[in-house]
Amino acid sequence: MAFDYDLFVIGGGSGGVRAGRVAAELGVRVAVAEEYRMGGTCVIRGCVPKKLMVFASGYATAAKDARDYGWDVRLGEFDWPKFRAMLHAELDRLEGIYRTNLAKAGAEIFDQRARICGPNSVELADGRSFSARYILVATGGAPYVPEFPGHELAWTSNDVFLMDTLPERVLIVGGGYIACEFACIFNGLGAETSQYYRGAQVLRGFDDEARGHVAELIRGQGIDLHVGTDVERMEQREAGIWVKATDGREGVFDAVVYATGRKPNTTGLGLEEAGVTLGRWGQIEVDEFSQTSAPSIYAVGDVTDRINLTPVAIREGAAFVETVFNDNPTRPDHELVASAVFTQPEYASIGLTEEQARDERPVEIYSAAFRPMQNSFIGKPERVLFKLIVCTNSRKILGCHIISPGAAEMIQMVAVAIKMGATKEDFDRTVAVHPTMAEEIVLMKTPVRTA
Ligand code: NDP
Repeated sequence: MAFDYDLFVIGGGSGGVRAGRVAAELGVRVAVAEEYRMGGTCVIRGCVPKKLMVFASGYATAAKDARDYGWDVRLGEFDWPKFRAMLHAELDRLEGIYRTNLAKAGAEIFDQRARICGPNSVELADGRSFSARYILVATGGAPYVPEFPGHELAWTSNDVFLMDTLPERVLIVGGGYIACEFACIFNGLGAETSQYYRGAQVLRGFDDEARGHVAELIRGQGIDLHVGTDVERMEQREAGIWVKATDGREGVFDAVVYATGRKPNTTGLGLEEAGVTLGRWGQIEVDEFSQTSAPSIYAVGDVTDRINLTPVAIREGAAFVETVFNDNPTRPDHELVASAVFTQPEYASIGLTEEQARDERPVEIYSAAFRPMQNSFIGKPERVLFKLIVCTNSRKILGCHIISPGAAEMIQMVAVAIKMGATKEDFDRTVAVHPTMAEEIVLMKTPVRTA
């Protein structure tokens, strides 16, 4: 049977665009449909604008530190409208690059919503329908806000990039990546910032010692962090959004940002009708080659809820093309994926947490928390953390956790060594770069704990 396309990609984010472009470059006839903006969450309302806001918010501390170092620096107001205009110009530029690269590779772009209406059939919002040998679903995820009285007053991360004015009083709800990052961003930009998290400690799933360290940094910056605290109800009042918390606390804020997780975008896509099995959270169930229960339909990225990170979606998209169009079955590698939480300073990690490692085998824990030279010189209390988890028997590094300025840049380098199977002795043989914070990673001689 002749198909209109060899590949129809639904979703123009990191995973979909990579798969579409690479496939088109191989000569495959590709179409990509995107209902919002090309580039997806990462480019349009995630990693990229978030990181630019991290940069913007870091200058207040930099100016204070500069003053402490002897510079005559005076910090004025942050001009959000000016920054926002620059931010959106940059996002437009990046979206243009994504679009151009796809078109250059020969893919056809449809700027509208698409839904599946059979294992080899896709229908666009304007009513046109096309057949395709393969369909790739790469529709990502969307912020999730729980239902409670007043939930409609909540913003999500999507709204932050579009806000007209910078709120003076902000409440962030949640304790994950996005909540901790935005608490630091708003605080750095000068807003009076509070954060409520329902659990006992922020960043559930990360290393306990590192979580405690991040919480200490968040509070040390002046963010009013309350754990074991959730929102019970919210009301719009004259003075702002009135919030009643589960611990009885009441507060009034100009904005309440919910960062309580993301849900896969699978509603109304026609997936189940086409034979695609969905999981408990609505995620698409796939095998190790990203194939769904309908053999002609594949899925990559956050919509599959495996590891929800841009570079992972990109690898999954590329592996899909290798497998399906290049006669080279390729499993995306989900082992030892490093990531960073862009708090200020950052928390970057790879591999096991101390708690995970303890469950599995005898381990040695090497850990050093200290005030780096740059801070101690000006009496700034902020400490950094370097931590290695080592398998007692094989000597391999099972996990590395770094909290410091530039930690995300550092972990990228450490990740290569750990992925190659580096042992503690390999680290020890490496001569330190002095004077740096990172030299600690090759200088920790004695375990602080064994288990
Ligand atoms: P996370 O899953 O990391 O965190 C969600 C937070 O919301 C948790 O603290 C969770 O609490 C809390 N929560 C969930 N449901 C509720 C509820 N009903 N009421 C109150 N609190 C609730 O999600 P994020 O939204 O922060 O990020 C989504 C994903 O995006 C991340 O997992 C990550 O993969 C990716 N991401 C990566 C970034 C990076 O690489 N730097 C940056 C941002 C996002 P509990 O712990 O108790 O479940």
